[in-house]
Amino acid sequence: MTPTDFIPYGRQSIGEDDIAAVVRSLRSDFLTQGPCVSEFEQALAAKVGAGYAVAANSATSALHLACLALGVSANDSVWTCPNTFIASANCARYCGASVDFVDIDPRTYVMCADKLAEKLIHAKANGKLPKVVIPVHFAGQSCDMVAIYALSEEYGFHIIEDASHAIGATYRGTPVGNGQYSDICVFSFHPVKIITSAEGGMAVTNDPVLANHMRTHAQQGTTKSPDELTQMPGDWYYEQHTLGFNYRMTELQAALGLSQLSKLDDFIAERHEQFARYVELLSDLPIGLPFQAEWAHSSLHLFPILLPKPHAQKRRAIFDALRQANIGVQVHYIPVHTQPYYQALGFQLGDFPIAEDYYQRTLSLPLFVGLSAEQQDRVAQVLRQSLIENEVFA
Ligand SMILES: *Cc1c(COP(=O)(O)O)cnc(C)c1O
Repeated sequence: MTPTDFIPYGRQSIGEDDIAAVVRSLRSDFLTQGPCVSEFEQALAAKVGAGYAVAANSATSALHLACLALGVSANDSVWTCPNTFIASANCARYCGASVDFVDIDPRTYVMCADKLAEKLIHAKANGKLPKVVIPVHFAGQSCDMVAIYALSEEYGFHIIEDASHAIGATYRGTPVGNGQYSDICVFSFHPVKIITSAEGGMAVTNDPVLANHMRTHAQQGTTKSPDELTQMPGDWYYEQHTLGFNYRMTELQAALGLSQLSKLDDFIAERHEQFARYVELLSDLPIGLPFQAEWAHSSLHLFPILLPKPHAQKRRAIFDALRQANIGVQVHYIPVHTQPYYQALGFQLGDFPIAEDYYQRTLSLPLFVGLSAEQQDRVAQVLRQSLIENEVFA
């Protein structure tokens, strides 16, 4: 890389071992529906301490399967938080359910458990309790799952963790995905995430019934399991019991994902080194640095910084200055309820003010395996310069 090459906010890290794994799968008898997918499922379940894992062609598909397995349908309501990717909400809409949001905690940027508690009191009074709540572990930082889980016991809703950012993260000493505080947990393997399978996702659970439901719905609603068939005329035979989808992961994807999974701990360690280096480079600037709880170990999917409130309107200029310097900063996230699609469903600007304020002031700096110290210096230097030029910092 030359000193002025484009630095994205996130990207994959592909080694010769990954390439060899994909080539092996290409030379094998199976490009799809072979042994790699179940190997990847088993390895990931073991890694996060879950009983069962179901691979899918994306986390979006896995979120949809999770909603279906929990019985989400047209008369139900599903709650998530606005500071997330649209998929966290869309999965409920695929099932015909209505979506609502719980604002974020201004310190941690994830779903605020106190606001969830308040909203549940009102929902109970109106007879509109959610069927499922989907907390999102933003940037790899776990939500307060003990509090959210306690509310689920009190009000009787299910929990799907959207852990698209949080594979390899821990919460109170145990891996995100072990199912202690949720029914289902979903991971994404999109190239900007912690590990990749190009496209791909996985849903993990400790409940064999939920796992079986998700697996069936990922393969057109069909089964070949002898104990589920109504007859067994021969080995060709399968039955469709319900209307499902083709959400299968391919062998090439699984081979890549499995190879990447073996490097997960190293990837996260490198992200933490980069995090520490940024903190050192940026600590004298008047910006908010990503929240890190003492009770959670983040997988550090993102490095979102926060401009001071009086300077919110300068975010655009600072974003443009970094982009002009070939630094691919990004903004995470446009609050989901402000998307035209969700506004057409009745949401308005002002509905979730903390997430909206956060959105106005945030900027994600590059953070990925392979980002060099020199590149981090360049990011910090250009950011510092643009903060000075925009009079955020003297
Ligand atoms: C990336 C992402 C998804 C969707 O993942 P895909 O694998 O691209 O479908 C869902 N939720 C969050 C929070 C994400 O960041």
